[in-house]
Amino acid sequence: MISVKKFSVNPFGVNSFILYDETKACIIIDPGFSNELEQHMLLDFINSEKLEVQKLVNTHCHIDHILGNRFVSETFGVKLQAHKEDQYNMDTADQTARMYGLPQPNSPNIEVFLEDGDFLEFGQSKLKILHAPGHCKGHICLYAEADHFAICGDVLFQGSIGRTDLPGGDFDTLINSIRTKLFVLPDDTKIYSGHGEETSIGLEKKFNPFLQAN
Ligand SMILES: [Zn+2]
Ligand SMILES: [Zn+2]
Repeated sequence: MISVKKFSVNPFGVNSFILYDETKACIIIDPGFSNELEQHMLLDFINSEKLEVQKLVNTHCHIDHILGNRFVSETFGVKLQAHKEDQYNMDTADQTARMYGLPQPNSPNIEVFLEDGDFLEFGQSKLKILHAPGHCKGHICLYAEADHFAICGDVLFQGSIGRTDLPGGDFDTLINSIRTKLFVLPDDTKIYSGHGEETSIGLEKKFNPFLQAN
């Protein structure tokens, strides 16, 4: 069974996730850890749970989700895995950081490409990769079928959807991604978003104002 630990970090309040199972293998998704205090929070958790970090994954490469990539990659010796179509966000990340007055993320580039339908494995667990463009080109969600949850980044939020005004964003594409990749999952699938609180597929189908029929 996969356990999920969430940290809300950095000035953007991004949700960074550690997923681990009984084997103590873990993966880190969207490390937003942007300063020493936040890096210590991560290390304290890894050490107290005696976890072995096996993978580093980005749902997408917007600045808020990658600020801790360099730290995680160097501390644990793991390569960055993401969808190849989000490399364009990585290419402009240092420039974007300057705009926000943030330290240069200096993130490693994507070295392992994840594609729609791939399975990402760690310990005894596996996650299915769902390519869900619209917020940006190479956005992926990670679906844990056996554990009834999905990590959805900035695709779907409680009562809202990801913004579509950034480079590579497109409203119709995003709505289509949500309908064809997420709303086909069981209603009781818990959704962990890139910002804010958890929700579920059933609740968003029923109440999300962007996704009501017509
Ligand atoms: Zn984003
Ligand atoms: Zn974000």
